[in-house]
Amino acid sequence: MPAKELSPIDVYKLLPRTNCKECGETNCMAFATRLVNREVPLEKCPPLMDPKNKPLYDKLWGLLRPPIRAVEVGVGDGKVTLGGEYVVYRHELTYFHPTVIAIDLSDEMEEEEMEARIKAVREFEYEYIGMKLKLDMLAIRSTSNDPSRFEAAVRKAWEASKMPLILCSLDPTVMEQGLAAVPDKRPLIYAATKDNWREMAELAIMYGCPLVASSPFDLNGLKSIVKTLLEYGVKDIVLDPGTLGSEGLPETLNNFTALRIAAIDKGDDLLGFPLLGTPITVWGEEAEDPVINEWNEAMLAAALIVRYADALIMHSISGWALLPLVILRQNIYTDPRKPVSVEPGVRRFGSPNELSPVLLTSNFALTYYTVASDLDSAKIDCHLVVVDTEGLSVESAIAGRKMTADTVAEALKNFKVGEIVKHRKLILPGRAARISGEVEELSGWKAMVGPLDSSGIPKFLSENWKPETE
Ligand code: SF4
Repeated sequence: MPAKELSPIDVYKLLPRTNCKECGETNCMAFATRLVNREVPLEKCPPLMDPKNKPLYDKLWGLLRPPIRAVEVGVGDGKVTLGGEYVVYRHELTYFHPTVIAIDLSDEMEEEEMEARIKAVREFEYEYIGMKLKLDMLAIRSTSNDPSRFEAAVRKAWEASKMPLILCSLDPTVMEQGLAAVPDKRPLIYAATKDNWREMAELAIMYGCPLVASSPFDLNGLKSIVKTLLEYGVKDIVLDPGTLGSEGLPETLNNFTALRIAAIDKGDDLLGFPLLGTPITVWGEEAEDPVINEWNEAMLAAALIVRYADALIMHSISGWALLPLVILRQNIYTDPRKPVSVEPGVRRFGSPNELSPVLLTSNFALTYYTVASDLDSAKIDCHLVVVDTEGLSVESAIAGRKMTADTVAEALKNFKVGEIVKHRKLILPGRAARISGEVEELSGWKAMVGPLDSSGIPKFLSENWKPETE
């Protein structure tokens, strides 16, 4: 049953229904609701783990398991999960595992170039609304088709990065030697095709690795390879339906979409595996300038992040190409049920004192970090009161009555702002202007209406705040 059609009552009927509270919930129905929201695993219900309840457990797992299987690549803290998704559209529940981005290395690269690329991948980091956005994997391609060179490149990549790896070669002999360099690191093997599937399946089973099934632009062929691999005993499979830019883009996106819909909405188990996109293919196109390839690769990658790719192999390591992708990925994989928020409270910026301005904002992470960045970059010494708006922006919080004169007055009182400064002047965001009068009445603070956009705060303060006389 698709996740969007599953109700707590469907799940409740299969629980032990003793209301024993051993799961930490007040009763079985509360646990069922959390199960349907995928907030807790079945294993948190101890009575369900009793062997006598195995038939119930199996039925529940059948209802709750993700239609897109979760496939782990790598080991230890750095391992990544591909897939494990329940819905086609994010708003039907949420997406769980962000698209993994792998950057390629070739076994014919000079040592310095390989080291520089590994360093660039490891050091790529962008702080965005309190999160660190990073790249996830390395994909080592055997362009030499020389088993020894491939083994050396794989070993080097692992030793220098300790990141999860994708090993890329269609030649089983080359692949075997690459796997021998990282026998216990669980890399993703790329790829089994209709020609080499048996040898690749044997390697996947021998080394306990996930395996990509590849059949570019032939979905029936892809399904047939998956069926064969499953029957042969391979469990962890990733699908490569083919990726092309330019004229091939519509078919690429149609195939990714068709596979995801077939697996989730039509219950086709043979297609219920993570999807691998390879925007790197655009580098095979003739271009006057490599920047054109980078541009095309970034566009293709963005389209695939939106259209269900669980992993991508890319070549460009330019910040301008990768930065929009990691931000896009972050936005799409944010849980729409829980607005991204920060802790309410009072923050200090610069070296504020008891005469410094007191500003106010909401606890929506994007709003908070935008205001914080503007205050930091303008080197303003001030106090910032962060009101709990349940993660809504100022405008939405005012409209939805999550930021009211009451909540503002309460925040000033609870956070003891009156003990932090001597004055009683509060600078409200411009979008909270309509509650300024009521704030004055309820809090006893003079409410000044600040700019609509926090980038205007420095100008506003220079025109309206005179520290020596406040
Ligand atoms: S532990 Fe299981 S049986 Fe007990 S209340 Fe929770 S869901 Fe119900």
